[in-house]
Amino acid sequence: MNRAEIIAVGSELLTPYRLDTNSLFLTEELNRLGIAVVRKSVVADDRQALAAAFREALERADLVVSTGGLGPTEDDLTREAAADALDRRLLLDESVLENIRERFARLGRAMAPNNQRQAMVPEGAAVLPNSSGTAPGLWIETGERAVLLLPGPPGELRRIFAERARPLIERRAGARRMAHRMLRAVGLPESDVDHRVAPIYQSYADVETTILATPEGIEIHLTRWSDDQAESTRVLDELAARIATTLGDAVFSTEGETLDGAIARELQQAGLSVAVAESCTGGIVSSRLTRIPGSSLFFLGGAVCYSNQMKTAWAGVPAELIERHGAVSSEVAIALAEGARSATGAALGLGLTGIAGPGGGTPEKPVGTVHIALAHEGGVREQLILFAGDRERIRRLAAQSALDILRRHLLRARRERG
Ligand code: ATP
Ligand code: MG
Repeated sequence: MNRAEIIAVGSELLTPYRLDTNSLFLTEELNRLGIAVVRKSVVADDRQALAAAFREALERADLVVSTGGLGPTEDDLTREAAADALDRRLLLDESVLENIRERFARLGRAMAPNNQRQAMVPEGAAVLPNSSGTAPGLWIETGERAVLLLPGPPGELRRIFAERARPLIERRAGARRMAHRMLRAVGLPESDVDHRVAPIYQSYADVETTILATPEGIEIHLTRWSDDQAESTRVLDELAARIATTLGDAVFSTEGETLDGAIARELQQAGLSVAVAESCTGGIVSSRLTRIPGSSLFFLGGAVCYSNQMKTAWAGVPAELIERHGAVSSEVAIALAEGARSATGAALGLGLTGIAGPGGGTPEKPVGTVHIALAHEGGVREQLILFAGDRERIRRLAAQSALDILRRHLLRARRERG
């Protein structure tokens, strides 16, 4: 078994309001088991369309996994459609029905008659009990192939997959497995990253390299399929190390750690605290610094000093400094950083001020102008960066750059400590 297809069931997934994320989880899990996902589809709650989707998928793949449509309501039709596609009858499974009854009794609720539908099982299917919901998963073998039906709620799906389905698939999976490594970099344009690392990864013909730009930096994915896991680990370690060396300090993680996570780790290792006074980013920097559990160990606080008055009142920026240089200036960024530091007693203070647009730009200070300052024990570092894009992009990139300035400072400090 090495080729899978995923069918995400649900009309809501064909609207702009819901995204099929279950298939991302399933793809990752199947890849780990050495199974490639060769196609995914999203199908409406329509018995005929769904049965056709199962039939077609079974012609191409040896494992078909569906998510959703196992609920008790009339529009949950995955059981029926799979039974149609496989030409099997649906039979009432007394033990499933008993489990559903017990679950309702335990929760002190009356079981609606239509919940009985969830106890209907295609002939010959193995029931995969659902410890966190009523709809069990179903595993149906047909010759060398198999169909796996999983409920839509992500928590239930994950649990049934991990506890029940994975062992069944693992037994049938081949020896060929996927090994994966992700590096993350920040502070270099995507094209620059590719230009610098292409000569390296091109010499690894058996590794698939994908470079993705995300709002929080660049991801470099390395994938290798092999029967020999130790060999894959060795090859990917070597390639990741060579890429990391070439990109230098731009790489902040070779294990999938986030930028926020990398900063949190560095701050804790150094025993340093940080505070923020930000304007154009409206709290994004503080929000990201508090994403990591345990951030109270290093994050003292942040203020959104949006108006000139609040820059003065909350961060102690002298009014005459703002008047003389303008709110968006090196001087004010530095004063914000120093103000954040002195107001809180933090070891490090970050200050940001800029023009996110779309209005407010001038020829001297166009939209996208952002000043970022970092105040520390030994002084202050300030940088002017001009970002392109719309308001949201400028705000996100400004926050990202501020965090990168903080990270690079911590890196230098660590090297100086030895
Ligand atoms: P239920 O018993 O809750 O009706 P179900 O198996 O019928 O379970 P659906 O009705 O299709 O599943 O979906 C239930 C919920 O699960 C959806 O409202 C949605 O929040 C989530 N969900 C369904 N499919 C997906 C998917 N492909 N990706 C992410 N979430 C999903
Ligand atoms: Mg449902």
